[in-house]
Amino acid sequence: MILRAESSAWSLWMTTGVLAIVVHLWVPAGAPNAILNEGIGAATVVAILVGVRLHRPARPRLWYLLAAAQAAVMVGDALFDYYKYVLHQDPYPSMADVSYLMLYPLTAAGLFILIKGRTSGRDRAGLLDAAIIATGLGLLSWVFLMQPLAGDLSRSLPTRLIDVAYPAGDVLLVAMLARVLTTPGARTLSYWLLAASQILTLVADVTFSVLNTMSNYEFGPVDDIFLLAYVMLGACALHPSMRSLSEVAPDRAPRISRARLAVLAGTSLLAPAILIWQGATHRHIEWLAVSAGSIALFLLVVGRISGLVAQVQDQAAQLAALAHNDGLTGVPNRRAWDLELPRELARARRARVPASVALLDVDHFKLYNDRYGHQAGDELLKEAAGAWNAQLRPGDLLARYGGEEFGVVLPGLTAEQAVEVIDRLRQVTPLDQTVSAGVACWDGVESPAQLVARADTALYEAKHAGRNRVTVSPVGSDPDLVRS
Ligand code: GH3
Ligand code: MG
Ligand code: MG
Repeated sequence: MILRAESSAWSLWMTTGVLAIVVHLWVPAGAPNAILNEGIGAATVVAILVGVRLHRPARPRLWYLLAAAQAAVMVGDALFDYYKYVLHQDPYPSMADVSYLMLYPLTAAGLFILIKGRTSGRDRAGLLDAAIIATGLGLLSWVFLMQPLAGDLSRSLPTRLIDVAYPAGDVLLVAMLARVLTTPGARTLSYWLLAASQILTLVADVTFSVLNTMSNYEFGPVDDIFLLAYVMLGACALHPSMRSLSEVAPDRAPRISRARLAVLAGTSLLAPAILIWQGATHRHIEWLAVSAGSIALFLLVVGRISGLVAQVQDQAAQLAALAHNDGLTGVPNRRAWDLELPRELARARRARVPASVALLDVDHFKLYNDRYGHQAGDELLKEAAGAWNAQLRPGDLLARYGGEEFGVVLPGLTAEQAVEVIDRLRQVTPLDQTVSAGVACWDGVESPAQLVARADTALYEAKHAGRNRVTVSPVGSDPDLVRS
């Protein structure tokens, strides 16, 4: 029942909204046209407030700000028509514009709340992308709209200030809209309706400013673009998906789409494009504006690159940690052992010191698993690795060789010294479990594999001799025997 009421409010709004615009297109300019225009504007404020009552979104302030922005436009329209039809004065510029201009800070504040909700905190990349787009388009707007409007000395200073305030407000809206479009959150119907409404507002505004630079005050068709933007905004607030508009999407990996790259490339290239156009058409070269814009764009792009490089480096470090550590015990894994052992032996050769390795194997671990369960077995492996590591020096290496077997590299230690260390490890083995170990001291010429094979043979002997002990491999024991 409730769901039907929710979606029927939306469909009713869309149908009447579109119909009202069609009617507006046919009503000739004059008071009835203006009243219909204001009626749609006022209805949009009501639609937003009804949407909040109906759907109870998490951040109502966002919607109140959008409603306030819409109300400011409505008041602006009413003042505009009052000057025009009641006082028979030129309505531009007037107090109506002060009210219209409130649209920008109020919408920007609303979108700011929306962006904060959808990004759940910091989003440096999105911020920089929005700044790049706003700088590129801001430069374009400066050269083609703001500068000509501000420089038209035939108009009074207040008029020129208001002339420039519109395109400046649009640059602010572009920046906020770029942020909205790069946020992760869900792309629902409500989201697209909001984006459409903002884009339509921008299109209508820019058309207005362009007509303004041509000193043309008849904005007839522009009104209908504004009206379409109102209807979209009302529809955005009335659609049930407005509830999740300011929510962050759970797991959406940050990816840079081709479209985003194309927009960034296009807007960054606006500065040189303006320069080429001014040079090729023998116009006045606005070197100051274009070079200031270029400097800002270069710095923003470098900031963006540095963020990406830092991200790649972080991920590389995380990947290396993942690739070289055992997931269960957290100690280095077999891959790390295979990399580190040759390095340790090379270091021992350079320093002319001995080096020993040991292989440890938990005794009757299958039995332990069978008796207490696999998870208890896991826990034992974890605790044993922790307890053994605590007994080793910083330069020693304990690695999980495989299953319940661990390898230890002891640089600088002879076989006898290594046995002492491994005996210490045996004594701290947790949960009353025992381990057997084989120790081999490097002879200075054999390969890492041959050295490990000798330690393995010694381990095998320790198991055969009754477990819970350390056996040493004699240096120079037959490598053929060892390999077999
Ligand atoms: P021995 O004293 O001869 O070494 O006897 P054992 O039972 O320890 O030897 P065996 O190699 O037959 O069994 C090793 C067992 O270790 C078998 C396997 O299920 C278990 N194991 C290997 N990796 C893991 C692990 O990550 N977690 C748990 N819980 N068990 C493991
Ligand atoms: Mg075992
Ligand atoms: Mg084993």
